[in-house]
Amino acid sequence: MTQNNHKRLVIPGPVEVRREILEAQTEWMIGHRSKAFEELFARLQTKLRQAFVTQSRVFVQGSSGTGLWEGASRNCIRDGRKALHLVGGAFSERWAEVSQLNGKQVDIIAVEWGQAHTPEMVAEALQKEAYDAVCVVHNETSTGVTNPIKEIGEIVRQYDETLYLVDTVSGFLGIELRVDEWGIDFALTSSQKAFALPPGLAFAAVSDRVLDRAKQVTNRGYYFDFLEIESSLKKNNTPSTPPVSLMFAADRQLDDVLAEGLENRWMRHAQMRDLTITWADSREFGVFAQDGYRSPTVTTVANGRNINVDDMAKFMGGKGFSMDKGYGKIKGKTFRIAHMGDMTISTLEEVLSGLDEFIGA
Ligand SMILES: *Cc1c(COP(=O)(O)O)cnc(C)c1O
Repeated sequence: MTQNNHKRLVIPGPVEVRREILEAQTEWMIGHRSKAFEELFARLQTKLRQAFVTQSRVFVQGSSGTGLWEGASRNCIRDGRKALHLVGGAFSERWAEVSQLNGKQVDIIAVEWGQAHTPEMVAEALQKEAYDAVCVVHNETSTGVTNPIKEIGEIVRQYDETLYLVDTVSGFLGIELRVDEWGIDFALTSSQKAFALPPGLAFAAVSDRVLDRAKQVTNRGYYFDFLEIESSLKKNNTPSTPPVSLMFAADRQLDDVLAEGLENRWMRHAQMRDLTITWADSREFGVFAQDGYRSPTVTTVANGRNINVDDMAKFMGGKGFSMDKGYGKIKGKTFRIAHMGDMTISTLEEVLSGLDEFIGA
């Protein structure tokens, strides 16, 4: 594997993947109806349950996270019923759209980009109307806001008919998440964010309540039919051909993640957040996300110094780093520093001192 011209990824997905993990993908191929595959799948189940802090099953799906958005919306919202989507950035906005495009009725609680949702907002909405699901993004990657998932869960669990669906695509393995304890019915993630794997796999911790609900939904489609996926999963298998090489990489990466320890991993991310925020404030950039809800995995830096983000990215490219220039409607007014996955504090320090050199600080 050549190192020539490789720029280390400081973008919020895909993130830098360690060489050992990339190399785990070069295992000899096995058939997915073989005993060896069943064993691989079973190993993944055990480790993924630990990683999601759940006793329930964890779906392993050949798709990006977006696929499981579609699956969640299709399987969890009945005809004639509604979902409540909490929207405050590009990703939460898109998930609401995915529900609508699948023919589901959606109500939205919108907050300004950069703000978090509160349990009070959700409590008020649930008092007014019955919802089949509340859909929340744990960590809004466009704005760098982490929502209070545990506290919102305390509200949602008071309603028997309402499933709690959480997108933790850029939160999982970087920010504390306890699926069972926090009453989460469905927690979905992708491989290429804080999991630090190549893109192409999606995972979701799935409660029994979700599967009971799916039985009451007629048009579940096929590829993301949760009842089909569950019936294969019970046999340590998948309905169609999975990305086996990526699963080898996941198997290896989960060993390293669990060896580091979930709490240590969450703490390392919190330290990287604090370092980045301190840097952004002291250089008079500022931070876009509301104080108190700033993400441990990605900082959306407010461009208070009004630097040219294209020039910045070019300069940093010369130092061997691939940088982000902001997302969606806040591109340029902000830029993001991803500090997730297997990034170390010392790599982050290298990134920040490169940026210092660019601004002449
Ligand atoms: C990246 C991202 C997605 C989309 O995931 P894909 O794996 O690209 O489909 C969804 N939600 C959040 C919060 C994300 O950061």
